[in-house]
Amino acid sequence: MTGASRGIGAAIARALGRDGWPVGVNYRRDKDAAERVVAEIEQKGGRAVALAGDVADPGAPDQLFEALESHFSAPVLVLVNNAGIARDDLTPSLGDEEWSAVLDTDLTGAFRFTRRALKPMLRARAGRIVNISSVVGLRANPGQANYAAAKAGLIALTKTAAIEVARRGVTVNAVAPGVIDTAMTEEVATDLLAMVPARRAGTPEEVAACVRFLVSEEASYVTGAVLSVDGGLAA
Ligand code: NDP
Repeated sequence: MTGASRGIGAAIARALGRDGWPVGVNYRRDKDAAERVVAEIEQKGGRAVALAGDVADPGAPDQLFEALESHFSAPVLVLVNNAGIARDDLTPSLGDEEWSAVLDTDLTGAFRFTRRALKPMLRARAGRIVNISSVVGLRANPGQANYAAAKAGLIALTKTAAIEVARRGVTVNAVAPGVIDTAMTEEVATDLLAMVPARRAGTPEEVAACVRFLVSEEASYVTGAVLSVDGGLAA
């Protein structure tokens, strides 16, 4: 579970922990926050471990998978690619650095983790990958060309990987949240909220509920899908 120290990732980690999954709580900088998520999962009887690692680092997938495999003495059969950043600017002034940082974290990182995760999953003929995309991968939002390209690319990666591995019992799906109440959306303009048919922001728990379903046994015939969790914004 990448980027699980706060926001949507922390809510997903708690939900999967409650369902009995051993959870790797990955974070980049905020160790204390990640350890609080681990403590919350353990208090409810679950198992979890905090793991530092920058998903944009090419060595991160091997490092984190090896740490998880040895901590829980089992192959990793569920991956949630949630870590993501935004660096907004209008296209004429969007810098190379902002472009690359977002693509490296939100798309290339998810690709490398997916590639690493598929090896044990294909061997086990079982596995679940869920990629946290965005409504912005489905419909335009000014100032987010880099983020939109990454999140739309993540949907294309999801669909392609899904059909490649469907015969082997592995599913790959995307969730596309709309405006969700987290640190990332602290400064969301009220006019954007006014565009949401439900007229409110969603909660991290509402996104986590959909991820719970996609990793469950009940979702075994759902693959290559994009599940919008956006109060109707993409409809
Ligand atoms: P937050 O900014 O609240 O949390 C982001 C999490 O990702 C943190 O745990 C952060 O850890 C971690 N993270 C960021 N960069 C890296 C990295 N390079 N390597 C490892 N971990 C990293 O974001 P949200 O919870 O709002 O968003 C989670 C996901 O949902 C993102 O992919 C985002 O794009 C997507 N999303 C969010 C929406 C929203 O409205 N909030 C809407 C649509 C999609 P640390 O603090 O240690 O850096």
